[in-house]
Amino acid sequence: AFLNRIDKVDEKIGAYLYVAREEALKSAKEVDEKIAMGEDLGQLAGIPIAVKDNISVRGMQNTCASKMLEGYVSPYDAFVTEKLKKNNAIILGKTNMDEFAMGSSNENSAFKIVRNPWDLTKVPGGSSGGSAASVAACEAALSLGTETGGSVRQPASFCGIVGLKPTYGRISRNGVVAFASTLDQVGTFGRDVKDCALLTGTIAGIDKGDFTTVDEVVPDYTKFLTKDVKGTRIGVPTEFLQGLDNKIRAKIEEAIEVLKENGAIVEEISLPLAKYSLADYYIIACAEASSNLARFDGIRYGHRAKDFKDSVDIYFKSRTEGFGEEVKRRIMLGTYVLSAGYYDAYYKRALKVRKLIKEEFDKVFKNYHVIITPTSPTTAFKIGEKTKDVLSMYLSDIYTVPANVAGIPSISVPCGMVDGMPVGMQIMGNYFQEGKLFNLAYSYE
Ligand code: GLN
Repeated sequence: AFLNRIDKVDEKIGAYLYVAREEALKSAKEVDEKIAMGEDLGQLAGIPIAVKDNISVRGMQNTCASKMLEGYVSPYDAFVTEKLKKNNAIILGKTNMDEFAMGSSNENSAFKIVRNPWDLTKVPGGSSGGSAASVAACEAALSLGTETGGSVRQPASFCGIVGLKPTYGRISRNGVVAFASTLDQVGTFGRDVKDCALLTGTIAGIDKGDFTTVDEVVPDYTKFLTKDVKGTRIGVPTEFLQGLDNKIRAKIEEAIEVLKENGAIVEEISLPLAKYSLADYYIIACAEASSNLARFDGIRYGHRAKDFKDSVDIYFKSRTEGFGEEVKRRIMLGTYVLSAGYYDAYYKRALKVRKLIKEEFDKVFKNYHVIITPTSPTTAFKIGEKTKDVLSMYLSDIYTVPANVAGIPSISVPCGMVDGMPVGMQIMGNYFQEGKLFNLAYSYE
C-alpha cells in the first residue's frame, strides 16, 4: 500500500531519492514467513519506514543529496539501521534532504526539491524535508532524519507531524554521514506521539561504534504516554514570544492552556543567552563541517573530476564540481573561523558561549521540567522565497538551535493551523528526559 502511495504522489512531492521497491517487498515477505513460524519479531515488525539519505543502509545509495556522493552505495548498515532490521521494520527507501544536511527548506538538494504535502507551492522545511514529507503524505508510516540544528523539528512543524531530536549521546551516529559531530543526532518522525516514541525506543541506546553514546537505560517510552501531567512545571521564555507572529503565538498559548487544564504549572521564564545560539551554532557547525567534509577529496569517495594535472588539481576540481553552493559557503566560513589568527576570536569564543548557554539551561531545569516555545517563527514559506537571502533562511532555526547547542532533547508536536498551514509547538527537556517530552506531547495531542 505504501509503495502504491509513493507511485501515486511522489512525483509531485519529491520525498524520495531512492525507492527500495524490491528490498521492501522482500523484507515484507520475510516478516510474513517469520510470523508463520511464530518468531518474536520486535516492535516495528512489518512497519514501513523511510530513511534519510545520509544514514547508511547496506546495499542502498547514501548520497546526502550531493553530486559528490552520487552513485555511492553503503557497504554497511548504520547502527540505527541495524536496530530497525532487528525489529523487522521494512525500509522503504532513502529520502531527499538538503545537501549534507545543510539547509532549512530542502531547496539545497543537488537532485530535486521537496514540496510540502499541505501546499505544493511551499517548502517542507529542512534539512530532513524528505523524511518529514514522506510521513505527512502517507508515503511512509515512520521515518528517520538527522538533526544538527533543527533539521527534524522544523520540518516536522512545517509538515504537521511529530519530530524528536534526542539528547546528544542517546542515539548512535555510527554510519551517519557527519556534518558537525558535536551537534549531530539521528531524529525520529511519526504521525503521532506514540509512533515517534516507539521508533525512538527502538533505535536508542549505547553503541560501542559511537563513543559519545551513553550507557543510560532506555526506558519504555510508551509508559510515558498518559494524559496526566499534574505537577509538571513548564517554563515559557518571554524572549521566544517577543515579536512573534500573533496567529502563531495564539496557537502556542492555546496549547499551553490545554496543558494547564491537564494539571501542569506554567510560568514565564527568561533565557537571555538563547539569542546567541544561532550565531554560536553557525560558527561551530561550519567549523566542524569544514573538517568533516575534508574527506571528500575525489580519491576516497564519490565524485572525481575527469581532467586533472596533479593531486592538488584532483581535490580542487572534484570539490568544485561535487559540492553545491551552500556546502561551499559553510566550508569557507568554517575554515575561516578555524584559521590561525581568527580561531580565538571566533571558534574558541563560540565554544565559551556554548558553555554559557548550557549553564543557562541547567539553571532553568533546576526549577522546571520542560521549556515550551514555538518550533519555528513562521509556518512553511514559499519555495524560492528565502533562497537569495541566506540570513533569513538561517533565522528559521532560531528557536530550534538552542537545544542542539546545549545537547538537550526537544520535540515538535503539531498544535493547530494558521492560514491553512500547520504550526508546531516545541517542548525542550533536561538531558535524557525524552520520556517527559513524550508525556507532555501526548497529553496535549
Ligand atoms: N538548518 C540548519 C542548517 O542549515 C540545520 C541543519 C541540520 O539540523 N542538519 O545548518
